[in-house]
Amino acid sequence: MTIAIYPGSFDPITSGHIDIAVRACKLFEKVIIGIYETPVDKNLLFSTEERVAMAKKAVAGYPNIEVQSYKGLTGEFARRVGARAMIRGLRMGGDFEREFNMAMMNKKMFPDLELVCFMASVEYQFVSSSLLKEAAGLGGGINQLVPPHVATALRKKYKITNSD
Ligand code: ADP
Repeated sequence: MTIAIYPGSFDPITSGHIDIAVRACKLFEKVIIGIYETPVDKNLLFSTEERVAMAKKAVAGYPNIEVQSYKGLTGEFARRVGARAMIRGLRMGGDFEREFNMAMMNKKMFPDLELVCFMASVEYQFVSSSLLKEAAGLGGGINQLVPPHVATALRKKYKITNSD
């Protein structure tokens, strides 16, 4: 079975992430969304359990997409679950450079793991979890950018009562 991991912080999962996972699940027999428990460079808003639960609900309609959390090196996680490929999404701007550097490092450590990058869809080019949190924190409309249960969770975190 050709398994791919789709690793990231997913703090929280957005419509941009879901778009990539759904497109990938048409190419691979199984896609495992891998949620880093403790990304070093991020100030997380949601706990691992919350991020996993939101992602699981978001992809519940896709039987070949799974969600797992992991610690440590992403390449080791891939090896553990038997994945041959690692999926990432590329938006306009800085994503390519970052992914390229990471890919070079990973290739040295895990030569059998192939990186497969998907171009972000036009409508999600400017969607990022960090901007989304900023907008939600200021009471901005986020309904188009995340599934309803994620919008509700964001509003709850920021104690916001408006609907969009
Ligand atoms: P990380 O901490 O690894 O950057 P993220 O949760 O921010 O984790 O992103 C996970 C992956 O999804 C990355 O490859 C990122 O480039 C990609 N991604 C994030 N937002 C989008 C989007 N709107 N469209 C497509 N890909 C995206």
